[in-house]
Amino acid sequence: MFRHISRQVSRSKHVANTRPPWRAFSSTTRRPLMDLTGFTDEQLTVRDAVANICANFPNTYWQECDQNEKDPKEFHAALAKDGWLGIALPEEFGGAGLGIPEATMMMQAITQSGAGMAGAQAIHANVYATQPLAKFGTEQQKEETIPEIINGTWRTCFGVTEPNTGLETLKLKTLATRKPNTDVYSVTGQKIWITCAQVASKMILLARTTPLEEVKKPTEGLSLFCIDLDRDHPGLDLRKIKKMGGRAVDANEVFFDNYEIPASTLIGQENEGFRIILHGMNAERCLLAGEALGLGYAALERAAEYAQERVVFGRAIGQNQGIAHPLADAYMKLEAAKLATYHAARMFDSSRTSDNTIPVHTLGVACNSAKYLAAEAAFTACERAVLSHGGMGYAMEYDVERYLRECFVPRIAPVSREMILNYVSEKVLQLPRSY
Ligand SMILES: Cc1cc2nc3c(=O)[nH]c(=O)nc-3n(C[C@H](O)[C@H](O)[C@H](O)COP(=O)(O)OP(=O)(O)OC[C@H]3O[C@@H](n4cnc5c(N)ncnc54)[C@H](O)[C@@H]3O)c2cc1C
Repeated sequence: MFRHISRQVSRSKHVANTRPPWRAFSSTTRRPLMDLTGFTDEQLTVRDAVANICANFPNTYWQECDQNEKDPKEFHAALAKDGWLGIALPEEFGGAGLGIPEATMMMQAITQSGAGMAGAQAIHANVYATQPLAKFGTEQQKEETIPEIINGTWRTCFGVTEPNTGLETLKLKTLATRKPNTDVYSVTGQKIWITCAQVASKMILLARTTPLEEVKKPTEGLSLFCIDLDRDHPGLDLRKIKKMGGRAVDANEVFFDNYEIPASTLIGQENEGFRIILHGMNAERCLLAGEALGLGYAALERAAEYAQERVVFGRAIGQNQGIAHPLADAYMKLEAAKLATYHAARMFDSSRTSDNTIPVHTLGVACNSAKYLAAEAAFTACERAVLSHGGMGYAMEYDVERYLRECFVPRIAPVSREMILNYVSEKVLQLPRSY
């Protein structure tokens, strides 16, 4: 599968040598709204190849999945078939070994195709929640699990959020207790908002292995596991949550009641889970930023098209500055957020190779800022797209209402706007910590 992706990337390198520098602008029949200057050939190849797969899943497919709460399993399978789920996973386990900028580009191409957040969420956890496993897992864990996730046999979900602790991750209460003299942990607790748990075979689970009262620092005592979600096994119950957008992918409450998992599912050292999970969190922010950008550009493209075509009072509505200026404003916000996003993604990759020369908070601020800016820019674009369509903005067949519903996801998850503002206030402005 990696060979498939690498063939495309190396073919693009060859073609790039023979193309004029403005190649990026002439690769599609209609000039894309997003300025492609500065992206590498690898990134543009990823963008084109993923967009080609997405083109087989038209807006009507996503409308139907959304309206009928139907899992887009054909879409997940199509990306798995060509190896894209392993874009940022190591080559020795079947991945492509590319970086977070390329993975971000892939996620952006997905949402921008019209698949929206539903398309992204259908595969998202397979791409980023597997990162801690790839870095901290044992050889056996990696060999047994990663290829099956990449080839689409197993889907995975990410189990962090809990109903009673919310954004206070360090207080989470789900407890994994090692049963004396066995190789088994027993898990008891509750998770909420777990995307794709209905269709996932695996969960990357964050749970307490030492109660909060017994640790010196709240960052201690958490552990990360890669567990089976075996619905026939006693002690596991899932309940679907009805939600506003991205209805094609399920969101769930997950109840564990003495659910037994083998000790071999522990990723890295016991009680080191928070440190391990931090590794994936900044990458996740970059991917979410890319997803938000794609959604925003998709909405803006629709709005610009409609503003050219729709004639009222004898002229295209886009001739009115009341319509044109907010769209121009939305474009500039998306472009600015794009620069922040790919800057953060590049910094993430550099931080992995540059031997701690990038301070941890510099990276955190860049990745959080990117997610914040991209989500807000997407919201502006989606809202303007609905309003530019007038009444038709409210109709399902024009898609922009779906985009608007979905653009709240990157504003809320995986970390809220308010918590990012708290973080920047504290780490950059050095204001007193407020939480
Ligand atoms: C569609 C969707 C999919 C999701 N998928 C997953 C998933 O797959 N896995 C997973 O683990 N989680 C998932 N989540 C959960 C998501 O990460 C959380 O909803 C998010 O982190 C917010 O947590 P909370 O809902 O508990 O909000 P709360 O912690 O209850 O916060 C509520 C509000 O109060 C604000 N607030 C709280 N404290 C402060 C403070 N000190 N200062 C300022 N404001 C504050 C917050 O910003 C927020 O606006 C998903 C959520 C959604 C909506």
